[in-house]
Amino acid sequence: MNTHPLTMPIPEYFEEILDSVRDDTSGEVAQYISQLKNADPNPLALAMCTVDGHIYGAGDDEHEFTMQSISKPFAYALALQEHGPDNVFAAVGLEPSGEAFNELSLDGATNRPMNPMINAGAIAVNQLINGVESSVEDRVEKLRSYFSQLAGRELTIDRQLSESEIEGADRNLSIAHMLRNYDVIEDDAHDAVLSYTLQCSVKVTARDLAVMTATLAAGGIQPLTGEKLVDARVARLVLSMMASAGMYDEAGQWLATVGIPAKSGVSGGLMGVLPGQLGLATFSPRLNKQGNPVRGVEIFKRLSEDMGLHLMSAELLTQHAVRSIEKKGQTTVIQLQGAMNFSAAENFLFSITEHEFSGETVILDISRVPMFRPMGRRMIKEGLRRIRDNGFRVAIFDPDELLPDLEFSDGTECRQITSPEQMGDQVALT
Ligand code: GLN
Repeated sequence: MNTHPLTMPIPEYFEEILDSVRDDTSGEVAQYISQLKNADPNPLALAMCTVDGHIYGAGDDEHEFTMQSISKPFAYALALQEHGPDNVFAAVGLEPSGEAFNELSLDGATNRPMNPMINAGAIAVNQLINGVESSVEDRVEKLRSYFSQLAGRELTIDRQLSESEIEGADRNLSIAHMLRNYDVIEDDAHDAVLSYTLQCSVKVTARDLAVMTATLAAGGIQPLTGEKLVDARVARLVLSMMASAGMYDEAGQWLATVGIPAKSGVSGGLMGVLPGQLGLATFSPRLNKQGNPVRGVEIFKRLSEDMGLHLMSAELLTQHAVRSIEKKGQTTVIQLQGAMNFSAAENFLFSITEHEFSGETVILDISRVPMFRPMGRRMIKEGLRRIRDNGFRVAIFDPDELLPDLEFSDGTECRQITSPEQMGDQVALT
């Protein structure tokens, strides 16, 4: 018994999602940066990191790409850490603009950029890093090293890409001149755009982004290193900005349909945060009209639906889905508690892969579970099937008959018991 370690079904589910969007070649890679225009449009990746630091990835999740606008929330976090909210609010507002990312726009009443997620706001935020007197290189190094701490590895800058962006940066230069005109920034417009462009050119993988965004999900604690990198209040503020403005002129529709604070970048990255639960990242270079990655948006829609991730759906969340694992004689009883959404099911799967099962029978007690999300149901049944495939007899104690069908993915049926007496060691399960 217990001959093979239990494996996780999550990467398989991720592969299935990638397969479902792989053939969609609609959209176009960003045209206005020559290096991005010539980039391979095909890579496709999905990665997730939980606040406990469990990472799952599929597809080209080790493929490096430049962060572009995905750098904006993290630069905003660093500016808030360095200067405090009031000083940052004096430079950049908190209102969604509903405009394109590169709009030459300011708040009419204050002459400040509307928010830190559009270019005008991000250029102003970049100028705050390391103080107004900082050289471009020192400022950029501050950002690169902070992003590296967030990712848990040393990140590098694609200087060729930033050079190719600077060559055609008339739009961002106009924004910088506008900011200078209204005394939002002091630096020379070219240096301001160079510094911001280098910030955008830090290279990450989808796995890195999942970890970085999971740090925001965890209230600022980096899930792999345990380092406190962002104050909880700052993390909350950054997530709020992502929710209202992270997807530019698609932000309202995104919040209503996907319901996950998110940020996209023109090189094809997209990251999303489930506060208190997990960080998600996708990579796919072709963009829609709003500059958001077509297949990334599709993947997020599907994940949100399948996994019940919409932030506004009021679900009872539980930190520890596995209440106990107890062995009586030859029977091990795993008791679950709380709503079984994706995070809860992940907690269950992780607990069973860590547990050394022995004896003959494993019973899953779901008497304290009020509801199952479809994805939670699928993953939990899959975990139980894998316990069975490792040589145990398995059954589900489901007194309220919460599970409509007990068929496993291989077509076999799981046994159900409905009275507590059947839970004893004497019960002979077939
Ligand atoms: N560097 C890019 C720019 O400023 C970033 C834009 C984006 O990713 N949406 O145009």
